[in-house]
Amino acid sequence: MVDLGFISECEPWRLESRFFPSKIGGKPAWLDLKNLPGKNDLECDYCGDSCVFLCQIYAPREDPDTFHRTIYVFICKNVECCKSNKNGNLKVFRSQLNQSNIFYSSKPPIEEKDRVTHVDVSQWAKTCHVCGIFAPCHCSKCKVVNYCSRTHQVHDWKNGHKETCGTEADSINEKLYKNNSILFPEYEITIDPEEELDSEDVESEKKELEKYNTMVQDGTAGTLQHEDVDDDLSQLASNEKDQIFAEFRTKVQKDPDQILRYNKGGEVLYISPHNQITDVPKCPECNGNRQFEFQIMPQLLYYLGSTDFKCLDWGILAVFTCEQSCKPNNKYVREYIWKQDIVQLESEVKHDT
Ligand SMILES: [Zn+2]
Ligand SMILES: [Zn+2]
Ligand SMILES: [Zn+2]
Ligand SMILES: [Zn+2]
Repeated sequence: MVDLGFISECEPWRLESRFFPSKIGGKPAWLDLKNLPGKNDLECDYCGDSCVFLCQIYAPREDPDTFHRTIYVFICKNVECCKSNKNGNLKVFRSQLNQSNIFYSSKPPIEEKDRVTHVDVSQWAKTCHVCGIFAPCHCSKCKVVNYCSRTHQVHDWKNGHKETCGTEADSINEKLYKNNSILFPEYEITIDPEEELDSEDVESEKKELEKYNTMVQDGTAGTLQHEDVDDDLSQLASNEKDQIFAEFRTKVQKDPDQILRYNKGGEVLYISPHNQITDVPKCPECNGNRQFEFQIMPQLLYYLGSTDFKCLDWGILAVFTCEQSCKPNNKYVREYIWKQDIVQLESEVKHDT
């Protein structure tokens, strides 16, 4: 059973930690409000900058230790760090809490905008004014505003703090400030079960596969060079090359706006037969196996909008988490992410030219 995630507009206050949101962009809505990941945990393997919050998925499980459970994904914004089929620019963390915990009431949250007693991360930890991760530094002038790093402090100084330092404005504008140029635009992710393929879909999937099989029999799959093939087929050959992508396309066409496929313990829906993940490292906490949990789809790129981000790219981002969802012992546990891109192999490039 696959659940699909879709983007939806939402008032920002509904995406605060106390509502246990699944969301894209803005600052992370931390679940455990202490022991937050900081710059060292989020450093891009390639350039050393902090990765920026991309999305979080609230995915609780049955047993008491996972009554609340959220997975966080971060990505480096430097376009040069976006390398084909490499994951060094991506970081994933898992956080979970028992129903009775020090941060939240064990009752469902009350849906009010400005609830007096509402839980706020600032009561528990210092977070970066710019990006929302753990902040060990602060502005040396006003000593009020905190930063994860010198880079973000400088960024903030140039982008407004110079004017507001020492005034009330920064705390008042904290919420508005969520939409700064470092962060991705913020949206809620709503989850709906994927409907089974109906007969029409099955028919079209069958047709796609038949085309592919014909090509395999003719020895033309992936390399189609026949002059007398119909347009449809050459289209298929140039864009799809294989059965994997045909399946991918059929599933995506059914719900073209899906940005997330959640399928715990299921199969990854690969976009290409190349660079599939074969060797997922064990959980660093319990040394147990990890399993596939969800994948982020290329459609999300469209919503990251701004020209700053438009060069970021991926085919799919597949997230693998500890099968046991082992107890994190008051920390954010590192999980595994795999980026698969569509890359033409050199052999294919030769055929095409
Ligand atoms: Zn980087
Ligand atoms: Zn920061
Ligand atoms: Zn200041
Ligand atoms: Zn584990």
